Amino acid sequence: MSPRAESFADAEGQGVVLRLVSAIQDNAKSLSEIDGAIGDGDHGINMSKGFSLCRDRLEKSPGGFAAGLGTLGDVLLSEIGGAMGPLYGTFFTEMARGAHGEARIDSALFLGMLEGATAAVKDLGGAKVGDKTMVDVLDPALEELRRAARSGSGFSACLAAMADAANRGKESTRDMVARLGRSSRLGERSRGTLDAGAASCALLLETMAKSIIDLLGGRP
Ligand code: ADP
Ligand code: MG
Repeated sequence: MSPRAESFADAEGQGVVLRLVSAIQDNAKSLSEIDGAIGDGDHGINMSKGFSLCRDRLEKSPGGFAAGLGTLGDVLLSEIGGAMGPLYGTFFTEMARGAHGEARIDSALFLGMLEGATAAVKDLGGAKVGDKTMVDVLDPALEELRRAARSGSGFSACLAAMADAANRGKESTRDMVARLGRSSRLGERSRGTLDAGAASCALLLETMAKSIIDLLGGRP
């Protein structure tokens, strides 16, 4: 039984970004439905448009993990409006920056990438935990990744813990009242449904975790 690897080559990581694209394309309808309940129903369409453009660019000029994340960030920043273009554009640009020039990605590096990207999203949007946004996913996911890494868990176990925390964070938004963005206009009426940005963010972090775990190979 081969052990799981503790790092993967940046050069092999473009597939992780392509899996993010597929996850958003496959779930565009349900993300828009979630947004429709307390927003304007465009979240899945917005995201899918941006992520599909990223796939087109990567087909023309392939790269590794950092370059792929950078392309995703660029496309979202330059082509996608709404709240999500700038926020996710910044998120992926910062993820890419954290991996820039690194030949291999391990759990310490990945933790630094998520730290930088989460801080940048919080700086830009001003959201805190409890505001019913993607930050309700990012913050606990990062905290759990950090806890797992510090406790000495392997990279795959750290990623699995991060994905579980991301999904719990998504569920936590159901009972919250939106304090930022479009749905905050509804006040109390925004309680009782998931936040769309939290739903897409949990999907993205879970997909990233699963695809990196696949890259790390071996058996659990
Ligand atoms: P829009 O609100 O412009 O229609 P989307 O529907 O694409 O944009 O995205 C809505 C999501 O944006 C919300 O579900 C929420 O998670 C997220 N969001 C809105 N404002 C902020 C903010 N200031 N910080 C973080 N996330 C935010
Ligand atoms: Mg919307």
